[in-house]
Amino acid sequence: MSGEAIVSGEATEPPTFHCGFAALVGRPNVGKSTLLNALVGEKLSIVTPRPQTTRHRIVGVRTDAEAQIAFVDTPGLHSGARRALNRAMNRTAAAALAEADLCVLVLEALRWTAEDAQVLERIERSGRPAVAAINKTDRVRPRALLLPYLAEVGRRFAFREIVPVSALKGHNLEPLVRAIGQNLPLAPPLFPEAQRSERGPSFRIAETIREKLTLELNQELPYGIAVEIERLVEEDGQLNVSAAIWVEREGQKPIVIGAGGERLKRVGRSARLELNRLLGQRLHLELWVKVRKGWADNARALKQLGLE
Ligand code: GDP
Ligand code: MG
Repeated sequence: MSGEAIVSGEATEPPTFHCGFAALVGRPNVGKSTLLNALVGEKLSIVTPRPQTTRHRIVGVRTDAEAQIAFVDTPGLHSGARRALNRAMNRTAAAALAEADLCVLVLEALRWTAEDAQVLERIERSGRPAVAAINKTDRVRPRALLLPYLAEVGRRFAFREIVPVSALKGHNLEPLVRAIGQNLPLAPPLFPEAQRSERGPSFRIAETIREKLTLELNQELPYGIAVEIERLVEEDGQLNVSAAIWVEREGQKPIVIGAGGERLKRVGRSARLELNRLLGQRLHLELWVKVRKGWADNARALKQLGLE
């Protein structure tokens, strides 16, 4: 954001600065969280190859001379959610869509599934303008397949713009940022220029631990893991953290801990290394695996974990 833009807005010229919320919506696993991180230039949202990794609404703010965009990463909208956790995730995604000034439909290049169609229907019903981000273009071979795909997407909805990108490689992000910014309302910035996130260290620590655990466990444990920070104190510039890893059944405990505690140690080590970098601070992590029967089906447990 440039100070001049605002000053000239206050003078006789009409305002030219755009600001608003852009919700990243799409089915699970299309790359919404990777895209948020790439657009904001900081890892705010965790990413794994597993669908339904994102559980919370995560806002990442990007400010430049023309616009301030508050990107909202959401859990993927998915159909047939039975568990309380999954219903809560769908509600979070729907609420983000409802409060957005603009939707960014994230699609996987060359793919169009029934779930994509359902998400597009929700955008249509919301009445919000939308931009399409065609992600994972780095995987498109031969490249000539991309153009007809873009044309096909353009026939499905009157998108303000359709922009092919690779969130992973950081390809073509500037045109996407411009398309989004220009389609936000004319308004002064909502956030201080330097602010990128609205989540504090405790949330980011819990999420990073959950990311490393999910990567480590791979297919062994479906959904039943939550991380709760039980203690966070700063001593001599170091963050001392005690975190509970909640599993749903007694039998899952040894899976998370691993033989001789090796698995939990690896998770702790990689979370600590990444958090040292992310937070710019030294960290001491203690991880405790605990059982809370069926927490993912329990509304009260979800509320306590900040998942409603
Ligand atoms: P989300 O569920 O929509 O938030 O998707 P994620 O951001 O968690 O990404 C899901 C998977 O897709 C992860 O393994 C990412 O590394 C991968 N991914 C995301 N963006 C790209 C991309 O541009 N290219 C490729 N090849 N993979 C990507
Ligand atoms: Mg995600």
